[in-house]
Amino acid sequence: MPSPTGRVALITGANKGIGFEIARQVGRTGAVVLLGSRNRALGEAAVAQLEGEEIEARCVQLDVTKPATIQAAAAAIETAHGRLDLLVNNAGIVDRGDGPPSRTSIEAARHTFDTNFFGALAVTQAMLPLLRKSGSARIVNVSSGLGSLTHNSDPSGQFAPVKFLGYSASKAALNMLTVHLAAELKDSGIKVNSADPGFTATDLNDHRGHQTIPEGAAAAIRLALLPDHGPTGGFFSAAGQEPW
Ligand code: NAP
Repeated sequence: MPSPTGRVALITGANKGIGFEIARQVGRTGAVVLLGSRNRALGEAAVAQLEGEEIEARCVQLDVTKPATIQAAAAAIETAHGRLDLLVNNAGIVDRGDGPPSRTSIEAARHTFDTNFFGALAVTQAMLPLLRKSGSARIVNVSSGLGSLTHNSDPSGQFAPVKFLGYSASKAALNMLTVHLAAELKDSGIKVNSADPGFTATDLNDHRGHQTIPEGAAAAIRLALLPDHGPTGGFFSAAGQEPW
């Protein structure tokens, strides 16, 4: 059934981790949250958990590397809601074959780009017609401090010892999507920003991160809920602006 007043939000990779927390906190604002999940059963279980918290949630079966699922998701959202007010490109992976430039597996780097960059680009392109129908849509690309060229080129910085070329390059490319798309959409009312969660304990890093999931989700949630005078084309952590 169409929801003409409540905001409609799609979060990819929302069955667990940071994406699930973004869905929960956006849902608490009264938005209908569409939880993208490549595995329908996991997505439905996550929806049931949010419904138990009185959040209006639906599962959208969506693998960001599978164009047919992206097109089906866009068609289903069009039918049910007629528009989209928020897209969070959160789905992301680290491939165990990734590593420094001399040793990273080319296949691992390609696999990482397929999800972290091409997946976000494909979902964004498919959802743009729906986002344009919102008065004030937001797009949040969940990036990483590892995608910052400035941080990576500081030999004494916290990221100096961390060399996963495929992952870092995919997040740098995602940041470029943010910059180019924000420029392209500057007169549309759609704001596009990158979020840096910080090192957060999730399955992605075998729970080695030092932040909690709510802490990791904070930057993306702020960008998801930006007021009309908020920034576009920027890169932000919970602490503030991040350098490209
Ligand atoms: P996570 O717990 O592993 O969650 C990743 C989510 O992405 C899962 O729902 C996963 O689905 C989904 N996903 C992976 N490939 C997908 C695909 N092809 N199609 C659709 N969904 C897919 O990791 P997380 O830490 O919450 O990561 C969320 C985002 O934050 C990622 O973009 C990550 O790069 C970024 N990030 C995380 C950290 C950190 O320290 N955790 C730091 C910086 C940035 P399945 O359950 O089916 O695998």
